[in-house]
Amino acid sequence: MQTGKIGVTSENLFPVIKKFLYSDHDIFLREIVSNAVDATQKLKTLASKGEYSGDLSGAKVVVKLDKDAKTITVSDKGIGMTAEEVEKYINQIAFSGANEFLDKYKEDAHAIIGHFGLGFYSSFMVSEKVDVITKSYKDGAKAVKWSCTGSPEYTLEEVEKDGVGTDIVMHISEEEKGFLDDQKISEILNKYCKFLPIPVVFGKKKDWKDGQQVDTEEDNQVNDTTPAWTKAPADLKDEDYKNFYRQLYPFGEEPLFNIHLNVDYPFNLTGILYFPKIKSNFEVQKNKIQLYCNQVFVTDSVEGIVPEFLTLLHGVIDSPDIPLNVSRSYLQSDSNVKKISSHINKKVADRLHQLFKDNREDFEKKWDDLKIFIEYGMLTEEKFHDRAMNFFLLKNAENKYFTWEEYEKLVKENQTDKDNNTIYLYTTNVTEQYTFVEEAKNKGYDVLVLDDVLTPHLINKFEQQYTDKRFVRVDSDVVEHLIRKEDSAKEELSWEQKQELSPIFQAVCPEATDYSFIVDFKDLGESGSPMVITRNEFMRRMKDMSAMQGGM
Ligand code: ADP
Ligand code: MG
Repeated sequence: MQTGKIGVTSENLFPVIKKFLYSDHDIFLREIVSNAVDATQKLKTLASKGEYSGDLSGAKVVVKLDKDAKTITVSDKGIGMTAEEVEKYINQIAFSGANEFLDKYKEDAHAIIGHFGLGFYSSFMVSEKVDVITKSYKDGAKAVKWSCTGSPEYTLEEVEKDGVGTDIVMHISEEEKGFLDDQKISEILNKYCKFLPIPVVFGKKKDWKDGQQVDTEEDNQVNDTTPAWTKAPADLKDEDYKNFYRQLYPFGEEPLFNIHLNVDYPFNLTGILYFPKIKSNFEVQKNKIQLYCNQVFVTDSVEGIVPEFLTLLHGVIDSPDIPLNVSRSYLQSDSNVKKISSHINKKVADRLHQLFKDNREDFEKKWDDLKIFIEYGMLTEEKFHDRAMNFFLLKNAENKYFTWEEYEKLVKENQTDKDNNTIYLYTTNVTEQYTFVEEAKNKGYDVLVLDDVLTPHLINKFEQQYTDKRFVRVDSDVVEHLIRKEDSAKEELSWEQKQELSPIFQAVCPEATDYSFIVDFKDLGESGSPMVITRNEFMRRMKDMSAMQGGM
C-alpha cells in the first residue's frame, strides 16, 4: 500500500470546506453523479471512435444507499482511472478547485452564497471517509483503491474489481447522517440530476402489494436522458412542449406558448422558455427558469443571468458556457453570461416577431396575455424595445389590433393638436370612461385601450422617444381641441358665455370643482352632449403616478 499527502498548501482544508459549504451540502451528490456521467460519456465517445470495444449499451450510473454501513455509493462503468490518473486527477487537479475556492473565500466571505461546486472534493462535506475504487478502460490496467479520511493524507492500493469503471464510496459522517435516507436522496437526485444524459438509477421501482410498498424488478431511473430542450424543434409537437412543462412544474398551470432556443454560434445555448398565463395584473406563478450546464442543474435563481423581464418566464436554459463551479455573484459578472443574456434577449424578440409574421391572428389572440411581458421587456431593455416595435400591438376600443406603424397612419391626419403633434387618445378603463370614449368616437377619433399597470410608464417612454406624439386620455381637456383635417369654421361659445355658464355646471357637478377637472363646452351645432367635464392630462397623470407609489 502506498500512502501520500495531497498537494495542498493549507494544512487542513476539510474543516473549512465543511463549514462554508454547509448551507449547500446537497450538491455533493450532483458533483459525484455528474462525474460518473462524464466518465461514462467519455468511454462512449472512445467506443464510437473504435478505441474501446466493451459493451456500453446498458451503461448507467447507480446510486446506492446502505444504511447499515452508513455509505452512499455512486458507481459507473465509465473510463475509470489508472493509479497515475488517480494521482493526477484526484490528488492534484481536483484539489486545485478547492484551493481556488479557498482563495475566493479569503477575499470575500459574502461571495460564498449560492452554488459552488468543488467537484469531487465536495464529497467531504458529508463524509468522514471517501473511497475511490476504480479500474481504467486501458489494456492491462489494474484496479486501485484510493482512500482518504478528510485529512491531507491518503492511501492508494491495488485491489480486485470486476469490470471497468469507478465506485465512489462515501462514508457519511455522524453529523450528516440525515443523508442516509431514501427520501432525501431521491429529492436531491430529482433536483439536480433529473435531466442528466446517462441513466441514473436509485433503487427499484416501487409497487403496491397488499397495502404495502414493495420493490419491483425494474430499476428506478431518476432521470429523463433526452429532455425536450435537447431535441430538434422540428421533432416536437405542441403536446410535447406541454408535457415537458409538466415535467418541470408538476403543479403548474398550462403555459400560453413557448420559445425553443437553439443557438450554436457564437456560443452553445439550448432551452425552452414558456410564457405563463398571468392571473391578474402582474401576478405570475412563481415557477422559475432553471439553468443547466450540459443537463446538470445549476440554479433556479437566475436574476442577473437572464434579462430581468425574462425572470417572469418559466422553462429551462442550458449552456456549457455557463460556468458551473462558481458563485452567483461571479456568474453575474461573467462576460460569457452577459453575452448569453443579450443573446437570449435577441432570440426571444426574434421568435415573437416570427410568431407575429407567421400567424398574426393567433398572435393577436394571445396579445392580451403576452403584452405585460413585452411591455416589461420594452421598459427594461432598450434593445428589446427596438426589436419589439416590430410586433408591439396597440388595441383600440373596437378590439382591433394595430402595429405602431399602422396606428400612426390611422390617426396621423385626423388627430393633431395645434402644435402639430399627433394625438393618441386612450382609455384606461372602457367602462368607467364609456361616455368619453363614445364622444371621441362620435367625433371620428380612434381610442386606444391602455389599461394595465405598465401603461403609464410605457406612455412616458413613447413620448420621450417620439416627440411628435402625445398620449392623451379620453377624458382629458385636449380632446375638445384637436384639429381635424376636415375642420370647418367652428362656432364656439365666446369667452364671456363660458364664464357665465361655468359656475352653473360646477354647482351641479361637484367633481368639476376638483383642480384637475375642467368644464368644457363643445362646439355649437355638434351632436352629442353639449358640455363635458374633462381633466387636465398632466395633472391627472401626476395624480395617478403618486397614487401608484402609494401616496395621495
Ligand atoms: P471536474 O469534474 O470539473 O473535472 P472534479 O473535481 O469533479 O472536477 O473531478 C476531478 C477529476 O477526477 C475529473 O476531471 C476526472 O478526471 C476524475 N474523476 C472524478 N470522478 C471520476 C469518475 N467517476 N470516473 C473517472 N474519472 C473521474
Ligand atoms: Mg466534476
